[in-house]
Amino acid sequence: MKIGKGSVVSLQYSLHLGDGEVIDASEPGDPLVYIQGESQIVPGLERELEGLEAGARRQVAVSPADGYGEADPGGIQRVPRREFPEGFEPAEGMELVAQGPDGEPLPFVVKGVERSLEGEVVIVDFNHPLAGKTLHFDVTVAEVRAATEEELEHGHVHGPEGHHH
Ligand SMILES: [Zn+2]
Repeated sequence: MKIGKGSVVSLQYSLHLGDGEVIDASEPGDPLVYIQGESQIVPGLERELEGLEAGARRQVAVSPADGYGEADPGGIQRVPRREFPEGFEPAEGMELVAQGPDGEPLPFVVKGVERSLEGEVVIVDFNHPLAGKTLHFDVTVAEVRAATEEELEHGHVHGPEGHHH
């Protein structure tokens, strides 16, 4: 069957950012499983997969606008060192999670530490690490099936590679 809204799709994929260096990939025998039309993967990739069948292989370049969005300069913030827990040693590249006003997780990356007149300042970036990047996917459709009513109701895939409950 062809991939369409409500299809459960198993996907082998690898991702690079234009230089061929793979930064993310599914493990052999452990595909990414998602429901088409539920915004569970980036929009540009979801669109290109529409209509494909099991066995199809595609190389897809996804622009930032169709991927994780453009990087927002406002996402980069300067946080006084004293607002971090005592004993915490910030270092460039650290991936951490702050808590938003409603307790929602806000992941960020430490970009560096600067000394200023007010003391040490930690430069943090709340942008998605892939914001502003063109995503180069190499995808193979492993399996396509219709979602069950229950899966559509829950908005996620059940079974060996999905939710268990
Ligand atoms: Zn469920």
